[in-house]
Amino acid sequence: MKNVAIWNEILSSVSKNLDPAEIEKWLRPLELSELRGDVITLSAPNKFFKAWVEDKYIGILKEAMKDNMLNAEDIRIIVKNDVPSAKPAADVPLVPAAHKDKKNDYCLSLDKTMTFENFVAGTSNSFAYSACVAAAKGGFNSLYNPLYIYGDVGLGKTHLMQAVGNEISEQFPKLTVIYTTGENFVNEFVAAMRQDTDVTDFKAKYQNADVLLFDDVQMLSGKEKTAEEFFFNFSYLHAKERRIIITSNAAPSKVSGLDKRLLSRFSAGLMIDVQYPSAEEREAIIYKRFEMLHVEVKPEVVRFLAENVKERSVRPIVGIITTLHTMAELNKQEITIEFAQSMLKDYLIKRDKILSPDEIVLMTASYFHLKPNDFKSKTRAASIAYPRSVAMYLLRQMTNLSLNEVGDLFGRDHSTVNAACKKITSQLETDAELKGTIERLLAQFKMNS
Ligand code: ADP
Ligand code: MG
Repeated sequence: MKNVAIWNEILSSVSKNLDPAEIEKWLRPLELSELRGDVITLSAPNKFFKAWVEDKYIGILKEAMKDNMLNAEDIRIIVKNDVPSAKPAADVPLVPAAHKDKKNDYCLSLDKTMTFENFVAGTSNSFAYSACVAAAKGGFNSLYNPLYIYGDVGLGKTHLMQAVGNEISEQFPKLTVIYTTGENFVNEFVAAMRQDTDVTDFKAKYQNADVLLFDDVQMLSGKEKTAEEFFFNFSYLHAKERRIIITSNAAPSKVSGLDKRLLSRFSAGLMIDVQYPSAEEREAIIYKRFEMLHVEVKPEVVRFLAENVKERSVRPIVGIITTLHTMAELNKQEITIEFAQSMLKDYLIKRDKILSPDEIVLMTASYFHLKPNDFKSKTRAASIAYPRSVAMYLLRQMTNLSLNEVGDLFGRDHSTVNAACKKITSQLETDAELKGTIERLLAQFKMNS
C-alpha cells in the first residue's frame, strides 16, 4: 500500500477519538514519509506544527497505528523541507513595520497581571494556551493568522490575549501592540465620526499596529458601519501579515449579525475554543490565585473549594477567592474549610457527602446496564466504549482526578481519557440524547450524594 493510502487509513482510525475539525487542522496536513521497522516518520509543514502534534497527538497516533497493524515503537516528526538555519517561508518575523512614531493612545492598556505566568494551562485551554505562547514567542505563522479564540464568559480568553500583549511588549518593546475590545472600538469609532477629521487618525492608529489584539469581536454584531471599518482595518493588517488575535463568545459561524466576509476571514485562520475547567484544573487555578495574593492556604482548603464552588467558570471563582481573602484579612482569621463554609454559604454546593470515583463508575456502568469491570475490557465495541467515554468525562467533571488517574480506573492511558473527554464535550454541542444521558446521570449522582 502507498504511504498516502496508509496515512488515510490511520486518519480514519483516529476519527473514532478526535473531532473531524481537529483532524483536518492538525493531522491531515502531515505526510507519512517513511516506514522503517518500528520507526515511523511523519513530516509536518513547520516547526510549530511539529511541536503541537508531538505534544498532543503521539499517543492517539500510536493507537491508530496499532489498529492498522503497524508497530509504531517510535513516531518521529520531521519538518518538511527543513533546511537547517533557513526560515520556513510562511513564518513572519517579529519586526516593527517601517512607519512609526510609536504612539497608541487609542488602545486600552494591558492588565499587567494577565501574564502567562499567572495563567494555569490545562486540558480545557491547552490548545489556546500553546497557540498564544507560540504567537508571543514569534513562532506565529501566517497560516494561523488570525488566531481566533472563542468560548463562554470567564474562561480566560482575555487573560490569554493580554498575556500575548504583555509578553511581546516586554520582549519586543519597539513593536506597537494594540489591545482593544469590540465595545471600545465601537465607542471610539462613533466619537471619531462625530468629528470628521478624527476618522483619519483613527484609521492610522489601528493600521499602525504590529500586533492587534481584538477582544470580544461579537460586540460588533449589528453595528454595520463600525464592522465595516473594522473589516477594512483587519484586511489592511492581514495583508501586511501583522499578527491578529481575536476573541469571541462563539465560533465564527455562530456569531450572528457579523459581515460574512469577516467571518470567512476568521475561519481561514486558526480557530480554537476554551472549555470549562475540570475540578483538577480549578484546583490549580485556585492555588495560583492565592499565590498571586501572597496568601498561603492549606491544600485541603484549595481542594475543598475546587470541588464545592457552584460556579464552573473561572471568573466567579476568582471573585470568590478575592472575597475570602478580604474577609480573612478583616477578621484576622486563617482561611480554613470552616471559615470558607461560613463565608461562602450561597456559593458552595450543598451536599452531605462527596461521591467517590468508584461510586461514579458504578452508577455510570449500571445506567448503561454494565458492570464496572466491563469498562476495563479491551474491546472497542461501541456498546462499551461509549459508556466508558461518558464515565471518563463525568469523572473529569466531578472529581479532581488527573487524566492518568482516571485512565488507571479503566486500564487506559491519559491520552485515551483526553480523547474521550474531548469527544464527549464536542458531541454534547449537537447531540441531544447524549446531553439527556449526562443530565440524568448527574441528577442520579446528586440524589446519591
Ligand atoms: P474571558 O475573557 O474568557 O471572559 P477572562 O480572561 O477575563 O475571561 O478571565 C476571567 C478571570 O479569570 C480573570 O481574572 C483571569 O485572570 C482569570 N482566569 C481565567 N482563566 C484562568 C486560568 N486558566 N488561570 C488563571 N486565571 C484564569
Ligand atoms: Mg473577556
